[in-house]
Amino acid sequence: MIDISDRSAIDISGKSIAVLGIGRSGTAAAKLGKELGAEMFISDINDSDKIQHSLSELKEYGIEGEAGNHSDRIQESDLIVVSPGIPKTSEVIREAEQSGVPIVGEIEFASWFTDVAIAAVTGSNGKTTTVHLLHEMCSTDSMTSTLAGNIGFPFAEAVKNDLNAPTENRVYVLEISSFQMEFTNHFHPHVSIFLNISPDHLDRHADMDEYISMKMKLASNQGSGDFIVYNMDDAILSDIFSTATAAAIPFTLGPDGKIFGVNETKIFDEEHATLIDLDQIALPGRHNLANQLAAASAAHLLGVDHNHISRVMETFAGVEHRLEKVMDINGVTFINDSKATNVDAVNVALESLSTPTILILGGIDKGGDFTTLPHTHNHIQEVIAFGQARNQIQTAIEDAVRFTSVDNLMDAVSVSSEHAENGWTVLLSPGCSSFDQFNNFEERGRTFKKAVAALVDSE
Ligand code: ADP
Repeated sequence: MIDISDRSAIDISGKSIAVLGIGRSGTAAAKLGKELGAEMFISDINDSDKIQHSLSELKEYGIEGEAGNHSDRIQESDLIVVSPGIPKTSEVIREAEQSGVPIVGEIEFASWFTDVAIAAVTGSNGKTTTVHLLHEMCSTDSMTSTLAGNIGFPFAEAVKNDLNAPTENRVYVLEISSFQMEFTNHFHPHVSIFLNISPDHLDRHADMDEYISMKMKLASNQGSGDFIVYNMDDAILSDIFSTATAAAIPFTLGPDGKIFGVNETKIFDEEHATLIDLDQIALPGRHNLANQLAAASAAHLLGVDHNHISRVMETFAGVEHRLEKVMDINGVTFINDSKATNVDAVNVALESLSTPTILILGGIDKGGDFTTLPHTHNHIQEVIAFGQARNQIQTAIEDAVRFTSVDNLMDAVSVSSEHAENGWTVLLSPGCSSFDQFNNFEERGRTFKKAVAALVDSE
């Protein structure tokens, strides 16, 4: 077994390491371990064409593996690296815990092999937007930023790429989900960023306390010289971090942030100099203003100058599928917010709009409460619901606002374009997961954009 108690003494060369999960993170961890001289073995309980394809690619790389079951070889390893998709309650993990083989997550594993400063972003909502903002803010003439983590580019892959290419003054900007914190020991960001905590993902985390403590692990190895950037408008975060060891740097939509403050018209810095006028910020929405303040505070702590921070705020137009403006057709603006898979996110999207709006909801219901939507947002002119949840949504909306039920998203787009008037917005912010009719929210968003583009062609 590998002794992992002292990070600086960890040596994996010649050791046998089992990786659980043949997705992107697992594959990247296996390749990183191989590169560093370990004997890697990878295993997945599922078997699919995609997994078989990855297995044969890994074999060419000198990594053995198995799909469809977890063999005894795993428990005989010196170390087990787990992908974030594998629940800690699964049998293979329980067995490993009993046999005493050390278990770490892919983020922890990768972090052993780099001393580059890490800025790690977590929270229930806004992570992807914030890491992209921070990445742009940290990409300057004198600083190199690498964006990785839960955004589809594993940290282990970034670390492996950089093993032989050391660069001065770099930073890793990492998006971290609570699942990725499940098996960490030494992971130590220089700056941790906590956006908000809301009760999402409660299906996998036993309860809210466990979910919170998982997120808090991000800061548990931080000490003097490190920073915790947190949202003081969030009651839970504010409660937790008022006594933190690492310098706690609150941000807020009000005037009292540690580094930046906000008033009705602008963001200002510690010297009360204007950082930027609010109407110059490209990204709409109060929630995005919070994301901007989080990213700006972290960028400041990493030494980025304020001119560059404000330039990014002026130009950053957002991430695909998050309040993404698709196009204007005859005075109607179509917005793709396919990433909004819960009702909280729908509320946030509606709060960022003031124009009369046709809201497209639908997919698989995640237990959200749609009842209040038309009452709290009186700019909603009509709700169009599609997919599996459409009857539940109809029951929730009742006759609070005009309602149309359709089979699929394409029909929703064509009905919306018939009903929308000049100056209105059509917002796809489904408030449901996508798996009844799509592989993922990205495919749902792309389908929406295609359907909107087809409206132009059909004119
Ligand atoms: P994540 O990566 O955490 O899922 P995203 O940046 O992808 O976050 O945003 C997902 C959705 O969450 C967006 O469509 C938006 O509606 C909502 N959202 C984004 N930022 C925030 C925030 N700071 N507070 C609340 N909701 C937010």
